[in-house]
Amino acid sequence: MARKPLMAGNWKMNNTIGEAVVLTQEISNQYEKEWPESVDIVICPPFVDLKPAKTVFDFDKTKIAVGAQNVYGEPAGAFTGEISVPMIKEIGCTCSIVGHSERRELFGETNEGVNKKVKALVAAGLYAIVCVGESLAVREEGTTDEYVCAQVRAAFAGVDAREATTCVVAYEPIWAIGTGRTATPEQAEAVCAAIRATLSEMFGEEVAEGMRVLYGGSMNPGNVGELMVQPNVDGGLIGGASLKAASFVQLIEACL
Ligand code: PEP
Repeated sequence: MARKPLMAGNWKMNNTIGEAVVLTQEISNQYEKEWPESVDIVICPPFVDLKPAKTVFDFDKTKIAVGAQNVYGEPAGAFTGEISVPMIKEIGCTCSIVGHSERRELFGETNEGVNKKVKALVAAGLYAIVCVGESLAVREEGTTDEYVCAQVRAAFAGVDAREATTCVVAYEPIWAIGTGRTATPEQAEAVCAAIRATLSEMFGEEVAEGMRVLYGGSMNPGNVGELMVQPNVDGGLIGGASLKAASFVQLIEACL
């Protein structure tokens, strides 16, 4: 099945509101109205930048969506410092990243927490970009597929096929994130195929064939071509290269 690629920019904790307005305007200035025929695009800036980024993209009549980098699994209440799904939905977000390895490693995010966030997002009609990926130790041990597929199963536990269908999985080997070290196209393809096989076991082949599996980890204009030709790689979750309009636009154009 032909899946429409998704290019998702993860700005991480970069760009003040002023800087976000400049960067979104730079992307918007290079926007071509034919892009959406071939590729879906979403930018995931810090929470404070969501509204300004959405305003720029809407004002310029682009079909570039905005999403959050994280959400909390409860709709409201005494959860100091957290942001809920209804809050990002009101801004116009279509999705949120969940379970990024930086959140798992630095902020103690667990598989159970990720699962709660996925359920909260799909219940509200948003989709989750579920990040999974192994450490270098796991890869060297030879248990990458088992490790990553267990993360997928945990993230989608109790989610039904109808809810899962819009969701996205991002395979991000931890050793490749922000390191300049990319998985080879063969390594990326092998794990993305294993993820799709797991999705097929959970939700059936038809749903799994329609779900997008992204690669993330030092994707850049130099390696995007060889990654995107892999049959199970349906786009990218992009950190560093999404922080400059020129490189992010080159990644979008690689999908045309
Ligand atoms: C990421 O943050 O999800 C990521 C893949 O970062 P980078 O592209 O910088 O490796």
